[in-house]
Parts: sequence; structure tokens; C-alpha cells
Amino acid sequence: MKLLLATRSAHKAAEVRRILAAAEEAALVLHPPRLQLVGLDEAGIPGSRAEDDLERFDTFEENAAAKAEWFAALSGIPTVADDSGLEVDALGGRPGVRTKRFAPTDAYPDLSRDAANNRHLMRLMEGVPPSRRGARYVCVASLAVPGGAAALAPASFRGEAPGSVLESGRGSGGFGYDPIILAVPTDRTYAELTPEEKDQRSHRGQAFRALARHLARGL
Ligand code: IMP
Repeated sequence: MKLLLATRSAHKAAEVRRILAAAEEAALVLHPPRLQLVGLDEAGIPGSRAEDDLERFDTFEENAAAKAEWFAALSGIPTVADDSGLEVDALGGRPGVRTKRFAPTDAYPDLSRDAANNRHLMRLMEGVPPSRRGARYVCVASLAVPGGAAALAPASFRGEAPGSVLESGRGSGGFGYDPIILAVPTDRTYAELTPEEKDQRSHRGQAFRALARHLARGL
């Protein structure tokens, strides 16, 4: 079964491929047919301005569904998209659905987007005591089927992974906010976990394993 993996993030794509391959290995997904994941480039879908407008909603579920439906209509094949982010308790759940564009664009001109986001979060958290630095990663994986084909119903799957915001970064694995988020209850950051350890406990691991179970039921 062909499944379009609708993300422009190479990091996300690598994690999702790894998570679904491990799920298949563990027979969460029955064979045949096996899942054949297709990337956006492979499907011949170039980036467009319209894509930037898809993530305009206030919930991860709505954003993930908007992305999945858009790319399912463009490609004509079943499509999965992920919307994800970080909710920080001391910031009232921010940045949430605005996680990717958290740092003001002109505030950190010399930094990459990820580095600027991390710096911005650490700055906002200055002076917050350890007991109030709790956070969670959220990921929603949304499945859309072109033309509303009945065999696979559209569906969304949410995963959440607990964390705590550090005062400085540690580790070189993962991506995005991983160096500054402690993977509680361990004493390592998400960037210090092995890829398999991250997948085991991550928001994306949980959401995509639930998707894999759903696909297994529908095949
Ligand atoms: P979006 O899902 O494309 O809207 O963006 C997700 C935002 O959350 C980006 O800033 C990512 O760097 C961040 N993010 C999502 N998942 C992870 C993760 O597993 N580790 C670190 N950062 C993440």
C-alpha cells in the first residue's frame, strides 16, 4: 500500500520512516500489503506558497488534517501528515501550534530557526525554578484518503511526551528543541537519547504507532 508522507522536514521524515519500519517489523502492520512510504519530492509535488497557509488553525488536529487533506487531493493517494510542537506549562501552553515560528524573525538574525527558537525559549524561561519548567511535546498524525475512499477512514492520532526545559542545551541527536528538553523521567535530553530510545517514548513514536495499528486494521 502506497502512503504519501506529507512533510518537508527531513528530520520528521526520517523519524517517521524509522518508527513505521519498526512497527512493521513488530507486526503492528500486517503484510501483505506492506506500506510503501512515498516522500513529497518522490511524488513530484514541489513546494508552494499555499502550503504555508495550511497550518493556520489553533489545534494540532486541525493543522495536521489540513495538511493531509491538501496533499491527498494533490497526489491522489492516501496521505499522512504530522503537526507537532511543544507546550510549556509556565508559558500557559505556548508555543503550542506556533512552535515552528516561535522566535520573532528579527530578534536573532545570526541564528538558524532552530537555534533562535531554543534561545528564545530559554530566555523566556530565565528565573523559572526547576519545579515549574515542565513541558510536553505533542504530535498529531492525520490520515486523509483522496475522494473519501471507504476502505480507510480519515483519522487522527495524538502522542504526547513529557519534558522539562533546561537552562542550556545538551546532546547532538534529534532535532529542533531536543537539546534543551529533558526527557523526563530520564536525566538525559531528547538529543542525548539514541534514535530508538527517542522513538520509544516520543510524541511522534506514539502517534505513528497508533496510525500503524489503524492501518493494520484497515488493510
Ligand atoms: P510543524 O509540525 O511543522 O508545525 O513544526 C513543529 C515544530 O516543533 C518545529 O519547530 C520543530 O522543530 C518542533 N518539533 C516537533 N517535533 C520535535 C521533536 O521531536 N524534537 C524537537 N523539536 C520538535
